[in-house]
Amino acid sequence: SYRDRIRNFCIIAHIDHGKSTLADRLLELTGTLSERELKDQVLDSMDLERERGITIKSHAIRMKYRARDGEEYILNLIDTPGHVDFTYEVSRALKACEGAILVVDASQGIEAQTISNLYLALGHDLEIIPVLNKVDLPNARPDEVAQSIEELIGEPAEDILRISAKTGEGVPELLERIVQRIPPPKGDPEAPLRALVFDSVFDTYRGAVVYVRVFEGTLKTGERIRFMSNGREYVAEEIGILRLERQPVEMLRAGEVGYVIGSIKDIRSARVGDTITHAHRPASEPIPGFRQVKPMVFSGVFPTNPEQYEELRASLEKLQLNDASLTFTPETSAALGFGFRIGFLGLLHMEIVQERLEREFGLDIITTVPNVEYQVVLRSGEVITVDNPSEMPDAGKIAEIREPYVRADIITPTEYIGPLMQLCQDRRGVYRNQVYLDRTRVNLQYELPLAEIIFDFYDKLKSVSRGYASFDYEILDYRPSDLVRLDILINGEPVDALSTIVHRSKAYEVGRKLTQKLRELIPRQLFDVAIQAAIGSRVIARETIKALRKDVTAKCYGGDVTRKRKLLERQKEGKKRMKQVGRVEVPQEAFLAVLSVG
Ligand code: GDP
Ligand code: MG
Repeated sequence: SYRDRIRNFCIIAHIDHGKSTLADRLLELTGTLSERELKDQVLDSMDLERERGITIKSHAIRMKYRARDGEEYILNLIDTPGHVDFTYEVSRALKACEGAILVVDASQGIEAQTISNLYLALGHDLEIIPVLNKVDLPNARPDEVAQSIEELIGEPAEDILRISAKTGEGVPELLERIVQRIPPPKGDPEAPLRALVFDSVFDTYRGAVVYVRVFEGTLKTGERIRFMSNGREYVAEEIGILRLERQPVEMLRAGEVGYVIGSIKDIRSARVGDTITHAHRPASEPIPGFRQVKPMVFSGVFPTNPEQYEELRASLEKLQLNDASLTFTPETSAALGFGFRIGFLGLLHMEIVQERLEREFGLDIITTVPNVEYQVVLRSGEVITVDNPSEMPDAGKIAEIREPYVRADIITPTEYIGPLMQLCQDRRGVYRNQVYLDRTRVNLQYELPLAEIIFDFYDKLKSVSRGYASFDYEILDYRPSDLVRLDILINGEPVDALSTIVHRSKAYEVGRKLTQKLRELIPRQLFDVAIQAAIGSRVIARETIKALRKDVTAKCYGGDVTRKRKLLERQKEGKKRMKQVGRVEVPQEAFLAVLSVG
């Protein structure tokens, strides 16, 4: 059958281990791209993405390969995002494949995302082909790393391919191995249509371009399709395969990978993970495992200049066209005015969105401290979710607060086990296990509250391990915790944008440090300013900013009017970067102060 000569696979790797470089070599060796066309790393198309060296959105590309058995094969390479924030997308992309190439940098060895991606791939029963990359590097230790791969997945160390994605060494052998080891797709082209959406991007002219892997049935141009999660129907105006550009074809059969375009104006109706079927002969069940991705980290985003509010909304709507996982709702803060509460998949996602708002849309924004979403059981028995600390009900009304926990894998050279365990302990971590990968490297497994890792955990982890430890996590569940809302009052007025949720055991310390930090950040005013930290009505820390005695214009010896005016003007300019809270001027940094007191 036609399916015997199709291979659907992806490349998984820890960041920087050479996934994109290997993809380029495969495109080049199969003649999909000439060297000239091969602007480096074609699969990472977004600028920001290229700069950060991460693959944010997955793409797919089809190659033709004449194997040594004389047959021509179709190789569909599905590119997966490598970062934990996009785990669900990784998982959907893996589902579209029968095999995965696991790339491990022979100078670095196994890292956290090697393991987390491997778990995901094994969870989908993929055929794994491990390769040692960067064997051209003088500090490569292929024998040792091969041994640890053998211990991890059971592939005999001597069978593991050694390649250099950079020079191309060993890559022809890898192509042969892909054909030999990865099974061809199964699925009946006559059955009712089931096509998995593993990605979608927004095209201004065509609407959503939906990337699909057909599992059963055959999809032809002009047919009426239905998204099974929401029942929406469209006409498949164009279907095609993905070379470097989209290439229309008449049909996509079971086992094939391609795209569908159908005047889909809202990318949220074409969600990753959904199943497309025929309107006239629908499949009875969708491909299992679809879920709406849920944002895990929230932060308030406010325009520095209130007049940019509508611009901010328009920009967020634009971003959302290409990022169905981005959610936002209007938020009003007494301190910061009108803005939005934005939900992100994780910290990296948050950084990317903030950066795009500033860079691509030229907006000046103030962001508040990120927080997780809490489940709150009220005394009335009702359960509510709270994604904004200032909306946490008063303690008297609360029976229980639950917070999200993650399962974390930390991979480190053994000499840093001590400090890393200390770090996890400080972050309320629950020790689970430690697994040796080889003589020198160990996988520490912890369960941690998500709230404890969203600020600066990664930086701390890197600093206590001199950069050697790597880290990845997945969301586990919600657990009850002894949490309290810590409020900050300035001259007796609570400042909503400064409220945080903290563990009771840390409330005093955070309260003390936060008030001290605010005392440093808030400039002296013409009157005394009291800064208090409080839990409910109980004040737990207090600092005072003493009044500025001298009028700033006093230096101007009275007479010189122009000079005096200039000074006043300059003062006014300074004010622009301030927010007026009651009578007090509070600088932007203050709204992020809690980040520095962890
Ligand atoms: P990705 O994050 O996994 O996509 O990694 P990249 O493909 O972007 O590679 C990260 C860095 O490693 C880049 O600077 C590459 O040029 C380099 N690199 C990738 N493969 C090799 C290799 O085989 N040998 C050497 N010396 N460098 C490589
Ligand atoms: Mg890459």
